[in-house]
Amino acid sequence: MPSLVIIGSTGSIGRQTLEVVDEFNDFQVVGLASFRNITLLAEQIIKYNPLAVALIDAEQGEALRTLVPQWSGELLLGTDGLEELTARDDYQILVSAVVGAAGISPTITAIRHGKTIALANKETLVSAGAIVMEEARRQNVCIYPVDSEHSAIFQCLEGRRLEDMRRIYLTASGGPFRTLSREDIEKVRPEAALAHPTWSMGGKITIDSATLMNKGLEVMEAHWLFALPYDDIEVVVHPQSIIHSMVELKDGSIIAQLGPADMRLPIQLALCYPERRHNPFQRIHPLALSRLDFEAPDLTRFPCLESAYYAGRKGGTMPAVLNAANEMAVEEFLQGRIGFYHISDLICRIMEEHDRRDWRAQPGLEEILAVDRWVRSEFHRWLRGISH
Ligand code: NAD
Ligand code: MG
Repeated sequence: MPSLVIIGSTGSIGRQTLEVVDEFNDFQVVGLASFRNITLLAEQIIKYNPLAVALIDAEQGEALRTLVPQWSGELLLGTDGLEELTARDDYQILVSAVVGAAGISPTITAIRHGKTIALANKETLVSAGAIVMEEARRQNVCIYPVDSEHSAIFQCLEGRRLEDMRRIYLTASGGPFRTLSREDIEKVRPEAALAHPTWSMGGKITIDSATLMNKGLEVMEAHWLFALPYDDIEVVVHPQSIIHSMVELKDGSIIAQLGPADMRLPIQLALCYPERRHNPFQRIHPLALSRLDFEAPDLTRFPCLESAYYAGRKGGTMPAVLNAANEMAVEEFLQGRIGFYHISDLICRIMEEHDRRDWRAQPGLEEILAVDRWVRSEFHRWLRGISH
């Protein structure tokens, strides 16, 4: 019976992972973790009876206990508790579904303990890709992508040799503002950015999809997962979100993976690989597809994508700085305190300062975590510098 620890179990990916678990009766949920949301976490504890649970917001530990009086498992608190959970020796697969750089340390801890990783948390590879991939190689650990584009590429590459790959085309829905002018996008409010046309996801990634930063983060994720140079990773906007990505082989053949926009499919594959299991989820029929459109991304209206390519090519500590700056700026935007284009402005300013001051080419994990903390602790300074 495959045994799982799901970190970020109360989020969009975490909940859908549990829906996949519900479809089959052969997964054991050993551990769960969330930031807050103790009401949902308590429901999950009662339903899945995990051996251990980590709650990041330690102050709510008592309240959680009172919600699950019958549960006799181990309650671990704070970020140390999260580390302890992922280091346990009584499970096989870590589902890394926390949002943001908070996923870096627990995911690396799980790799160091030889766990298979089902990776949704792309920020881990963005900020610490070199370290994560090196550690996975050393420990002989498999990282199965949950992100739909990377799952698609992984599927397109099955049975092929990496050296036969010419390039990959990462597809992007284009987000809710694909057809708006720059002037109109400038005025958008968080509510409009949260209404994604094809996918239903957590708040941060939904804003990232509207700015196209999500695709930029995915370019870096693909760079690490598939060992491709940035010049061979191209983004194409495909509004229908039916083709989840494509691989062009050296001979010119293009292999694509198609499916409904349902994250439970890549989650299921990451949990069951190499097995393909029947499920009752929505399916598509070719005759039901009216058309498949493709267009180039517009970097003038969506400058975050270019910033991500810049950070990826620069490498070292720069992607971690871009990621932390983006997380902070997206939170400000979600709170209605800054405008849409302030997100990209702030990211550029912070990267420029980092470039001038203390960029490192080959940082260790501590240096990466330090630049992440630097951006967060000084963020208010750059925030004051933008014109509202
Ligand atoms: P979400 O906001 O819905 O859920 C985030 C989860 O992480 C919650 O359980 C929350 O409690 C937990 N969390 C938040 N901050 C934390 C912290 N500091 N420490 C520990 N846990 C914390 O997010 P989501 O949409 O499920 O996305 C999760 C990850 O998966 C992200 O990295 C995202 O980019 C990636 N992803 C999501 C989707 C999607 O469809 N939602 C698709 C592809 C990739
Ligand atoms: Mg994706």
